[in-house]
Amino acid sequence: MEVYKTKAELALFSTNAKKKKETVGFVPTMGALHDGHMSLIRKSVSENNYTVCSIFVNPTQFNNKKDFERYPITIDEDLKKLETEKCDVVFLPSVNEMYPDPDNTQYDLGGIDKPMEGVFRPGHFNGMAMIVLKLFAAANADVAYFGEKDFQQLAIIKYITKRYNVPIKIVGCSTLRDEDGLAMSSRNLLLNADQRKNALAISQTLFGTKQKVNKDSVENVKAWAKNFISQTSNLKLEYFEIVNSETLESILDWSDAENINACVAAYAGEVRLIDNVKLK
Ligand code: AMP
Repeated sequence: MEVYKTKAELALFSTNAKKKKETVGFVPTMGALHDGHMSLIRKSVSENNYTVCSIFVNPTQFNNKKDFERYPITIDEDLKKLETEKCDVVFLPSVNEMYPDPDNTQYDLGGIDKPMEGVFRPGHFNGMAMIVLKLFAAANADVAYFGEKDFQQLAIIKYITKRYNVPIKIVGCSTLRDEDGLAMSSRNLLLNADQRKNALAISQTLFGTKQKVNKDSVENVKAWAKNFISQTSNLKLEYFEIVNSETLESILDWSDAENINACVAAYAGEVRLIDNVKLK
């Protein structure tokens, strides 16, 4: 496994692969890798000649300085896991390598950035789009793998690759969960035992919501879900929405969209967690 720190090394690797007509799969991450990340790596390894994983905690997508400073970093363990899964290249750039000059570009995110995370994390998706487009340019990969766990992020990435003509295929991958249902997340490392226990109400609410589709009104189900989370100690709800999976607009009736997701963000103590499930 090669570890590259510069865009030039990564670009050379991809150019050589392309010359040999070999495919490159790309998995961008912020590290603190867990089995959810590794499921993306495994998929890429099984579908491509080479797999590149980037690990970069991107400062421009953190709207909260404390969240950025607290973000878990476990590089040595990450490298071991990637080596075990036969990842070919790890891209570990410095902030200066990715942002040699100040960059104030404002991207067109098609309005998909406005609801949910957009309300509570202003600027987050613009920073995310900025780094993803820079990473795509450096990696020059054929396919990139993203988790459905970050549902709104995935929708925006699909939008910007089209909008900015990036020749890359985007593959969404299902959410991996701990046995009890909690969605795997790097931030779970920051939870104490009590918070971890209470955080379970997030996935339980989503699974409960799925059971209620078409049995009660959207409005009643939303009220039930919000109440379930709000009544759990240690949890502070930011949003619970039932949305059209394509436009991410809230729906009023189960017949309003063919594909519907329920999406939630809540704080367990100081740790912000997000999750979603497909309802239909
Ligand atoms: P992150 O390191 O949190 O930026 O995540 C890197 C990639 O892994 C993103 O595409 C995430 O959506 C994906 N990911 C994170 N958690 C999970 C999970 N539990 N299951 C599947 N994919 C995930």
